[in-house]
Amino acid sequence: MQTSIYTDSRQVSRFLAAQADPDTVLSAELGPAYNEYRRLWERARTFKELPPFPLHVDYEMKFACPLRCPMCLMSLDDTGVYGDPGLELSTQTVLDLVAEGAARGQRALGFGGLWEPLLAPDLPEIAAFARDRGLVDAMLNTSGLLLTEKTARALINSGLTRLMVSLDADSPATYDLMRPGSDFATVVVNIENFLDLRKKMGQRLPLLRLSFCRTALNEAELEAFLARWSGRADFISVQAYGRYPTPGAPDWPRTPWAAGPEGPCAQPFKRLLVRHDGRVCPCCDASGAGLSVGRLADQSLAEIWQGPALAALRQSLCSGDFTGPAAACGPCQAKYGPC
Ligand code: SF4
Repeated sequence: MQTSIYTDSRQVSRFLAAQADPDTVLSAELGPAYNEYRRLWERARTFKELPPFPLHVDYEMKFACPLRCPMCLMSLDDTGVYGDPGLELSTQTVLDLVAEGAARGQRALGFGGLWEPLLAPDLPEIAAFARDRGLVDAMLNTSGLLLTEKTARALINSGLTRLMVSLDADSPATYDLMRPGSDFATVVVNIENFLDLRKKMGQRLPLLRLSFCRTALNEAELEAFLARWSGRADFISVQAYGRYPTPGAPDWPRTPWAAGPEGPCAQPFKRLLVRHDGRVCPCCDASGAGLSVGRLADQSLAEIWQGPALAALRQSLCSGDFTGPAAACGPCQAKYGPC
């Protein structure tokens, strides 16, 4: 793997790229429509232009995951505070939302939130529908546990552009600490099978990003992780741990982020998350699960995007006031700068 290293705007994550940075590769694959999307994204990210509709929408179709990772709110939630496993967005609801977004200027979609997206069997159908409606970027984050050959084939055919697998370890013992409920050997085989299949199918996309969230539990394995996957994954993301630890979890080192010259959090200026219960949130950060700016049952996504709740949140973030509409942003370190 080429040793080019790209960092995010706050130097919290660094990406190692097999060929070039992700934007360069996707621009070559997807052409002018992708370049225009990224131009609009950059204008929104730097507060130059608020788009008429979110450029990116995440759909959290369920509140469910077979894993219980200690860094995730899902591992805390046996009480229904963060979600209701009995509720979900139907495939038809998501298709309708994608159609609404495509008609109003949405350019990208993801399957983020508090869930394992590969639990939804219709994900490839939704990604293909979005591609056919003109959306240019479609991504998902997964543990990789459910990335069977059948699913991998369907995703490669669907127009998905980025497949991001959180691995975080290079041995079964460490993996079991970081990703309880999964199985290291199965996930490694799934990743390798995905890469082989994509090659056999003559496809370049989806790009595969493997991530390693560095903590006191796994940092001794970082070099072995890089050696195993360099030249095989398209990108490797080494991330700093920036969340508060789950009570009872090891006191992992945190990366202090400071307010920079770039301004406040830009998430509510470019994206939305539709949660499994129809609540709409301004980001897919864990802290954002406590921020609802509207409900699908009451308003369309366009109305929510242009509505007073989101306007008040944007105003609070810009003025650095974390006591009112942006109170839930308090523990979120993303509040210190656009990303
Ligand atoms: S500061 Fe954090 S919780 Fe608040 S909107 Fe931004 S990413 Fe979401």
